[in-house]
Amino acid sequence: MSTETPLDLKKTVNLPKTAFAQKANLAQSEPARLEKWTQLDLYRLIRRAGEGREKFILHDGPPYANADIHLGTAMNKILKDFIVKSRSMMGFDAPYVPGYDCHGLPIEQHVERALAKKGKKKNDLSVESFRRACREHAQNALKNQTRDFKRLGILGEWDDPYLTMSNHYEAETARMFGRFVERGYVYKGARPVYWCIVDQTALAEAEVEYHQHTSPSVYVKFPLRSDPASIDPALAGRKVFVLIWTTTPWTLPANLGIAVHPDFEYSAFEHGEEVYIVASELVEAVATKCELAARNENGELTPPKVLARFPGAKLDRLEAGHPWIDRVSLLMVGDHVTLGGEADAETELDVSEAVKKAPEGKAGTGAVHTAPGHGHDDFVIGKRYGLEIYCPVDNAGRFTPEVEHFAGQRVFEANDQIVEFMREKGVLLFSEKYDHRYPHCWRCKNPVIFRATPQWFIAMDQVNGEPAEQTGLRAGAIKETEDRVKWIPAWGRDRMRNMLKGRPDWCVSRQRVWGVSIPVFYCAKCNAEVADPAVIDHVADIFERESGDAWHTHPAEELLPPGYTCKGCGATEWTKETDILDVWFDSGTSSIAVLENPRREELRWPADVYIEGGDQFRGWFNSSLMIGVADHDRAPYETVITHGWTLDAQGRAMHKSAGNAVEPDKVIKQSGAEIIRLWCASSNYFDDMRASDEILQRVMDGYRKLRNTARFALGNLHGFDPSRDSVPVDEMEEIDRWALSELADTIADVQEYYENYEFHFVLQRVTHFSTVTLSALYFDIIKDRLYTYAPKNVARRSAQTALYRIVDSLARIIAPLLAFTSDEIWEHIPRGANSEMPVSVHLALLPEAEHYDAKLVSTWNNLFVIRERVLAELEKARTNKTIGSSLEALVVLRPSVLSEAQVLLEHYKEQLRYIFIVSQVELGPPTEGIWPAVEIHRARGTKCERCWNYSTRVGEFERFPTVCERCAAALEEIERGNQQ
Ligand SMILES: [Zn+2]
Ligand SMILES: [Zn+2]
Ligand SMILES: [Zn+2]
Repeated sequence: MSTETPLDLKKTVNLPKTAFAQKANLAQSEPARLEKWTQLDLYRLIRRAGEGREKFILHDGPPYANADIHLGTAMNKILKDFIVKSRSMMGFDAPYVPGYDCHGLPIEQHVERALAKKGKKKNDLSVESFRRACREHAQNALKNQTRDFKRLGILGEWDDPYLTMSNHYEAETARMFGRFVERGYVYKGARPVYWCIVDQTALAEAEVEYHQHTSPSVYVKFPLRSDPASIDPALAGRKVFVLIWTTTPWTLPANLGIAVHPDFEYSAFEHGEEVYIVASELVEAVATKCELAARNENGELTPPKVLARFPGAKLDRLEAGHPWIDRVSLLMVGDHVTLGGEADAETELDVSEAVKKAPEGKAGTGAVHTAPGHGHDDFVIGKRYGLEIYCPVDNAGRFTPEVEHFAGQRVFEANDQIVEFMREKGVLLFSEKYDHRYPHCWRCKNPVIFRATPQWFIAMDQVNGEPAEQTGLRAGAIKETEDRVKWIPAWGRDRMRNMLKGRPDWCVSRQRVWGVSIPVFYCAKCNAEVADPAVIDHVADIFERESGDAWHTHPAEELLPPGYTCKGCGATEWTKETDILDVWFDSGTSSIAVLENPRREELRWPADVYIEGGDQFRGWFNSSLMIGVADHDRAPYETVITHGWTLDAQGRAMHKSAGNAVEPDKVIKQSGAEIIRLWCASSNYFDDMRASDEILQRVMDGYRKLRNTARFALGNLHGFDPSRDSVPVDEMEEIDRWALSELADTIADVQEYYENYEFHFVLQRVTHFSTVTLSALYFDIIKDRLYTYAPKNVARRSAQTALYRIVDSLARIIAPLLAFTSDEIWEHIPRGANSEMPVSVHLALLPEAEHYDAKLVSTWNNLFVIRERVLAELEKARTNKTIGSSLEALVVLRPSVLSEAQVLLEHYKEQLRYIFIVSQVELGPPTEGIWPAVEIHRARGTKCERCWNYSTRVGEFERFPTVCERCAAALEEIERGNQQ
């Protein structure tokens, strides 16, 4: 090249150059990247890369295949993706098989509504056709959900998810029922269960939710039939009544007893001719409420006259009479009786009690109305006293014909009439409206009742009908909860233990169609029931071939082993059970049906981790544990993580109707799925997670900063071939090594955070590193070197070596969280000719924390403290117009005599101008103060046209008259390079 051509100085400056765009355009670029992943079959490549590594199994809790996804579902799946991707990059073989919960009531209801639109009813269809319609609905819903989950950048076995309605799964569900039978846990019995009178089905604990409800609160007199003198001689010959209180007058026709606490003191007090028995502590409250107390001349209430006091045990097995039916109401003693109103409800310990009883206030009498067919405690004490489990209410919640006066009426409508009826009969002392939290059906939102019906149960504390409190299912599940499983956050352990301690026997039968039939047969002649594990396995094999539809398409004889005869009567004709299994039994089976599915070799039982919302302590965490313990005597999970709820900015639940819902679909279209992922990563998911447009805006600002950091590094790696141009670490500039030490520190922290599933800490750490350490400090300082040095100068290559490692590590670190952007960065990192880097960052491993030099870090941190003081003075000088840009400054620095800064500054004298980004630095004599003294002057000399630094030597160089000595040398070096 001829030297006569005037040199275009601008062209000799190494300006950043990269195809990595400043503006992300995620909404457009993400679909293209997803397409690329599909083309690559990225999930399969990751599987292959993981072959032979230690396994890590996250088992997916199946979302319900009914509606479209919302922010909560998106968040749940994204957190799972964070876990799977990070474990995979930590060197595990971490397959992810997503699943869908496909059976159950909501789908039946949906199909029924669709039929109604065509003027048809469920009964117009055969069971097979109805089930086919349900299957199709689930299939469509899960197809849409799959599309949406994939759009969020979640990698997994989307072509082959597990479905609770697949043949194998339905067969395994039936087999698991057989396992419970085999272990002696299954029994059929009449027990009170939650019952929705609208949907006409039993409900699981997890299918009940609490809402405000107004009930009639009544105080009712039960006449004592036994001789009152047997309680206390003072009561001889008196008309004595036991007072009860209830908020469900409709359960009174089913009253068979009254429970008192054996150790509480009870009082009999006088009111006119009559004597009333209540707990001593409640005498005043009851007398006031029911206006039984007389007033003195000052209008003050006088306490009623108490005739006798005695422990509740004295009432045991005495007889009262029903207030209007000619029937005994037996007095019983039980520890469940409380004085604080009645049994506490809506604790997760025993939510069932609230159906019959009210939770708050001292509204009770200490004598509890007991209807064994309508309450859990009632059932238990009724059993103990040999009472009938009496339930004169039908499926639709109507009184059966035997209930005089009220037959055919629905229970909630009958309430008011029963109150009026009692008032007329003179047995009602007081009534009022009472607002309380009351359980409702989670589907139709109607209040539920507690009702005894013949159901299939799994016993919690019994084996083959014998008490087994130490060896039963409950004991086994509690032991696993306490001793084996790791709960994150740690309160999960207590929550699960309490849930297990309080749960009643598991009612697993449902009077519905869309589910796995309970594989039990009844002898057509003697009605003996066959619940036989061998027979169940036989049926399950048929399900495996034909699906659970086989139960409906074959007569019983074809489902039983050939020639099966009744052991009782020898008959060979059978009928089939019509109930199906609880859907929670279905989903609880997942660990067996999926992790142990021989077709899914990549999985294994038990799972390493389950992660779901807190509602699953009642739901899937619980049912999975039951099935794990029944089948393998251990929990199906090593670790259980609980995530919070998605709420709006004010902490309210999101509702489409309230207008505060952040809809994933909309966010994706406007800003990209990456923003939802980043929002998940930025929130502490162990708590509730808040989202709003404003919060997402902040997330996007953070995104731009991260993107700019990556872009700076990529732009300055233009022309860098890491295999050819890398500088060995010990030959690198000190500050570059300092940057690598900071990187190593970040990596070490991040590895720990990933290990502990603390994704918000990962993001905080990465954000701090990229904005504070890199953008605001390191990048500023190395800019001069990167831009003005000859491209191949070793000092520039040193900075590039650091940048290369930094951006390569950053892409890996953020890959589990920012699945799209990390891969985009990865693509733009120059790899040189001989790179063997994987095609996607998702095939790479997390970076190793290398080159940490503690001494270097502390030295440079000291220099940066001084830098802060200098920058503050520069800012002042800019404000008072002493200088314009910082390069116009000459800094005179006088270190403190008291500190070691003198030695430090002397040692780094030559580098200080780059650290402060000024043209010149001079060290003056030490000052007496604690801090260095800083003076800012205008820089000496002339501005170099190329690097904009000031130098007294500009003009000295004949061939490059407008540049400084550094630039002159660089230009000569460039020319030499060009000649090569
Ligand atoms: Zn309902
Ligand atoms: Zn028989
Ligand atoms: Zn220069």
